[in-house]
Amino acid sequence: MIHVLQMTGRIPPAVALPNFAVQSVVFDDLGALGEQQALKCLIIDVDRDAPRRVIPLLIDLRAHAATRYASLILHADPDILEHIRDALDCGADDIVGTDISNPELTHRIQIHQDHLRTNAILRESSIIGLNAAVTDPLTGLYNRRYAQSHINLLLEDARSNGGSVTALMVDIDHFKFINDAHGHFVGDQVICSVARTLKSAIRASDLVARFGGEEFVVILPNISPKDANTLAQRLRRKVSEITTDATPIAITIRIGISRFDTAELFESDLENYDQLLKEADQALYHAKRAGRNCVAYYSH
Ligand code: GH3
Ligand code: MG
Ligand code: MG
Repeated sequence: MIHVLQMTGRIPPAVALPNFAVQSVVFDDLGALGEQQALKCLIIDVDRDAPRRVIPLLIDLRAHAATRYASLILHADPDILEHIRDALDCGADDIVGTDISNPELTHRIQIHQDHLRTNAILRESSIIGLNAAVTDPLTGLYNRRYAQSHINLLLEDARSNGGSVTALMVDIDHFKFINDAHGHFVGDQVICSVARTLKSAIRASDLVARFGGEEFVVILPNISPKDANTLAQRLRRKVSEITTDATPIAITIRIGISRFDTAELFESDLENYDQLLKEADQALYHAKRAGRNCVAYYSH
């Protein structure tokens, strides 16, 4: 579908394009574009008395969700074309004179539509690529790389604006045994169940990431040591309550906690996330020595 936006009162000759369905839009009705689905191609019939309105119009159209990615083709009387040439630098894809033949206009529209499709594919794959770079394909959780940059941002923020950052390192107990006894597929399902359980038990401002194999990290900004401990115990209990479909499998986790507040961040020349996670990992080791299925707090 080709849309024709009229700045003039006339019906432009281009509306007679035989290969396309064409619909006219009135200039005053630009607000109504909000309800439209994304337009593919908009031919703007330029008002010969007001070429200066073209640039603000293009800027508006590029700002509008419905017309952001549309091919915008200016259609104007031949004698004003040179007055609107700058429009090509301001969002217009093409400028054509009213004397253009229909086959020529059809051809140009086709070329712009091809570009539009290619650009949409590029946008789509860059979004997929960006997501893939930061998420873990098995659980859909953020991955280690994302968790690390998130911790760094939180630590920077706590350093400049006050606050604290707490990390909970989570490890599934005897996971190798689950794999060996029930197979990798069941092992994968257990990892996903634990991921879902952790995710459902934290606040929207907290973050849970899969750190590697059967290990997760939960990152909690501005939480007291007592509340972090309570949350960790709740996570541990909730995981122990997970039920599996076929064979019953006992799933437990252990958690190591580490926390930095502003004062500690000022005192030390921390290697940022490295240090926070290293300490959480040490706490995790203590939890293992204490018999697993428990929570340990790193003390400085
Ligand atoms: P511990 O109680 O000391 O934590 O022992 P564990 O068996 O949980 O830990 P270990 O590090 O010995 O074994 C972890 C196993 O997790 C080994 C690895 O093959 C398995 N694993 C890692 N990633 C995946 C995965 O994506 N899916 C499955 N099914 N297994 C995985
Ligand atoms: Mg492990
Ligand atoms: Mg383990």
